[in-house]
Amino acid sequence: MKTPLTINELYTALKNKEYSLVELLDAYFARINANHDLNAFITITDDYAYQKAREMQEVINNNPNAFGEFPLLGVPLAMKDLYLTKGIRTTAASRVLENYVPAYSSTVFERLEAAGAILVGKTNCDAWAHGSSGENSDFGVTRNPWNKDYVPGGSSSGSAVAVAANMALISPGSDTCGSIRLPSNYCGVTGLKPTYGAVSRYGVVAMASSLDTMGHITHSVEDSEKVFAITSGPEGKDSTLIDRKYQKLTGENKYKVGIPKEFVEQGISDEVKSSIDSFANWLTDNGHSVVEVSLPNTKYAISVYYIIQPAEVSSNLGRYDGIRYGNDRSTFGMEAKRRIMLGTFVLSSGYYDAYYNKAMKVRTVLIEEVNKVFEDVDVLLAPVAPTPPFKLGEKAADPLEMYLTDIFAATANLTGIPSLAIPTGFTKNNLPLGIQLMGRKFEENILFSLGKKFQKQTDYHTKTPQS
Ligand code: GLN
Repeated sequence: MKTPLTINELYTALKNKEYSLVELLDAYFARINANHDLNAFITITDDYAYQKAREMQEVINNNPNAFGEFPLLGVPLAMKDLYLTKGIRTTAASRVLENYVPAYSSTVFERLEAAGAILVGKTNCDAWAHGSSGENSDFGVTRNPWNKDYVPGGSSSGSAVAVAANMALISPGSDTCGSIRLPSNYCGVTGLKPTYGAVSRYGVVAMASSLDTMGHITHSVEDSEKVFAITSGPEGKDSTLIDRKYQKLTGENKYKVGIPKEFVEQGISDEVKSSIDSFANWLTDNGHSVVEVSLPNTKYAISVYYIIQPAEVSSNLGRYDGIRYGNDRSTFGMEAKRRIMLGTFVLSSGYYDAYYNKAMKVRTVLIEEVNKVFEDVDVLLAPVAPTPPFKLGEKAADPLEMYLTDIFAATANLTGIPSLAIPTGFTKNNLPLGIQLMGRKFEENILFSLGKKFQKQTDYHTKTPQS
């Protein structure tokens, strides 16, 4: 059986009784087993999934309006192992939490389950979401399904791999500085980092709370929008959420798209540059205008990020003292220790003003700069990362080199704007390429509308790796 690529495709097959939900899960678990070497999952929840599948099959058989009432009925779902799932082990890919079974679930998981989605497993990631390559997991590296010698991108590595290799249809990740967009980009799938304040962080292991954004990975933009409509909006548990109902755009609008020259001027590979050029051409061919814009202070974004983020990490990881739950602090890995030390340093007296306070001031300058550019353009087009996927081990020994992978991701997190990563082709070595579209806060709908149009005319998002 061929696994579906979109929710629509799945619904058509289920309505036509081409297969039952149990048969659907058989196909997904067969793929999970066949792709064991990709190491995309930390926990596989097959018993749980089959139980849900039988319940949902009853709904399909007995409720004539089942597909109307459950917008994700039977959708195979993989959750990044940062999302708490009641009664199901949640590790954050760290030995500290290797035996931790939460007593409650994250809002995102609750909402997806309530919509009918079926959890097939918890995905591997860089421990505590610290990383860009999937190599920082205490549960072993995740591999790129397009070429197993390459990294899948991180930190939501397993989520992107699970969707790309058809081991799940949708997978929520978290994006603190690119962790949804980068692995989506490196695995040839679609990834959304929503506006900060759009999707609840309740019940997700916190990395850097002022930057953490809950989003998801799908094959298509159409599905990304469907999932966002379900996960977004307040629930009274995350006080940073803004009460706005998602409004889908209808009709044809023409947009003014800016390419920040600082993102394409230097330091990006030729293949990444040409994917920007061809997307810009697609935009103009479709009646949108494309202009060059300047965001001069974004060159400080990654430096600012690597002060604010460790500061918040050192505070958030303080709760794992081994006394109340989890293993003791000796079980923290190298990268977490590095960030705890960096963060404690930039917050310590004598250094606070020089580092943390200054970084916060530059963050405000960045927010003003981005607000200003959005007075002129509707959308920004930029690369997700400076290069296509790199080889496993290539940057693992050099944390600074690894940190630079996220140089183009930081702006959206520091300023809270949404960004959608879309696959746009392949390198000459058959590794995925893509771009990101950033928009004004709460204008995900414009990004979706452009992305859906692009995917109607191209088929990059329907390509899947051989295996
Ligand atoms: N790669 C970045 C880091 O290591 C971002 C991680 C993330 O977005 N969770 O901090």
